[in-house]
Amino acid sequence: MRLSRFHLHTSKETPADAEIVSHQLMLRAGMIRKLAAGLYTWTPLGLRVLRKVEAIVREEMDRAGAIEMLMPSIQPRELWEETGRWQKFGGQLLKIRDRKDGEFCYGPTHEEVITDFARNELRSYKQLPVNFYQIQTKFRDEIRPRFGVMRAREFLMKDAYSFHLDADSLAETYRVMYEAYARIFSRLGLRFRAVAADTGAIGGSASHEFHVLADSGEDAIAFSDGSDYAANVEMAEALAPGPRPAATETLREVETPAQKTCEEVAALLGIPLSRTVKSVALVGEQGFVLALVRGDHALNEIKLAKLPGLGEYRLATEAEIAEHLGSEPGFLGPVKPARPVTVIADRSVAAMADFVVGANRRGWHLAGVNWGRDLTEPDLVADIRNVVEGDPSPDGRGTLRLARGIEVGHVFQLGRKYAEAMGATVLDAEGKAQVMHMGCYGIGVSRIVAAAIEQNFDGNGICWPEPMAPWSVAVCVINPKGDAAVTEAAEALYRDLRDRGVDAVLDDRGLRPGQMFADVELIGIPHRVVVSGRGLDAGTFEYRARRAADSENLDRAALMARLG
Ligand code: ATP
Ligand code: MG
Ligand code: MG
Ligand code: MG
Repeated sequence: MRLSRFHLHTSKETPADAEIVSHQLMLRAGMIRKLAAGLYTWTPLGLRVLRKVEAIVREEMDRAGAIEMLMPSIQPRELWEETGRWQKFGGQLLKIRDRKDGEFCYGPTHEEVITDFARNELRSYKQLPVNFYQIQTKFRDEIRPRFGVMRAREFLMKDAYSFHLDADSLAETYRVMYEAYARIFSRLGLRFRAVAADTGAIGGSASHEFHVLADSGEDAIAFSDGSDYAANVEMAEALAPGPRPAATETLREVETPAQKTCEEVAALLGIPLSRTVKSVALVGEQGFVLALVRGDHALNEIKLAKLPGLGEYRLATEAEIAEHLGSEPGFLGPVKPARPVTVIADRSVAAMADFVVGANRRGWHLAGVNWGRDLTEPDLVADIRNVVEGDPSPDGRGTLRLARGIEVGHVFQLGRKYAEAMGATVLDAEGKAQVMHMGCYGIGVSRIVAAAIEQNFDGNGICWPEPMAPWSVAVCVINPKGDAAVTEAAEALYRDLRDRGVDAVLDDRGLRPGQMFADVELIGIPHRVVVSGRGLDAGTFEYRARRAADSENLDRAALMARLG
């Protein structure tokens, strides 16, 4: 590629509405352009990076024995009715109608479609196990799209779905996928952790999330410093042995007589509290009690009771809750500043803190939150640390530490949930129909691009891990129009690199060196070679690695050795 014929459009200005570094740098480098909230155009430059990530994901999925296919992104309502998710999925499901008034959704995920495919295609246990995958655009009507492609509405996902005769076979493929994921994120050059996770909206028995570690991450994860134990904070908190820590007591102290504990609220609302169900009560000045329940529900579920004088109450409809919160039904929304709430977190300090941190990060106003003091994010993080960090690790080896992470992958053992609901069976060796076991495995391909930048940047721009870089080497030509010998030498070097399979780009735009170098650094090319008249006279090229402090003058052989 010659940059003179490419479309590169960089900028020095930091865009005002981009809060985190990856969003800022992707805009400045000209990798993405916003079309509307959560909708982004990938420019030619951005697409090169996206395609590199995609290629590695595809290679490792193929290597792990998964089979690629492609399903429609638009899905009919009928399928979603079969699993009950047309209603349950909530506000993230974008529903659309065609000209015949047929109802469809834009797929946020593909369990229904693949299970329909499987029930038609798979007849015998001899066809199992089988693992299908696709790399495809999803749409989720996120309540607050933010951080550019990190939390977009339209995004690229790799999703795989495996089918099995029994749970052991599912567990084996799950292990294979887990290892494939670890290889993918290692190959991409990312610092990551796999953590035990709640099965949440998708449902099922076992689940792990893969997190890229970054301070800007929206999730809190806990890990042991003495073993491989790692879990998201909710899970760590639920599993942590022993009595509830002291911070819970501090919270009790701030309760007024008009407030209730989570257990009491849960009892009033008839919500079962279990080990994995965390509940949080929010008491508003108008006598509203909100209980947030996470766990075995299809989505975070909020129930609202009206408590005139705390004597009577009733469950409110989702619409009422949404109206009170100024949000959408089916999902926890922003709390308007005009509706201050007091938070009681009797049962789960960590879950509560996670919620408030999440709310803060989503820009929701939790005005008047009473944590015994005014609540800021650093306070909360400190509180979570008090509760989680320094508990022994649940596996008894080492102590728990906390980090923030960006969820880039998620694997689930779904069991028979979807196959049962949709009647997906195969005949076993005895000729008896058996409901299949299923696994599903997602990777946020487009999110990875942003997550990688969060880990790899400096004051001058992006520092791509080599496998993701738009090009590995930039050959920069000084004064291409004025000096034919320089142009010739640069062209020859560029061709030679391409012939050797090095992904090189020729910067023949004729910009001033400062401008050219600023661009090459901003867009994060790992290796820069400068071809100049002075260098040619000395028989050298100026070479600089993206993260190196200084450049070196190398002769051609040394340069080629360096660039592989
Ligand atoms: P999150 O917790 O960040 O909302 P999720 O748990 O809802 O993600 P999954 O259903 O597990 O997402 O989907 C698989 C992967 O798709 C996620 O691990 C993530 O990398 C990616 N992903 C999910 N939502 C988005 C989004 N809005 N924008 C970009 N990538 C996303
Ligand atoms: Mg989500
Ligand atoms: Mg998640
Ligand atoms: Mg997930």
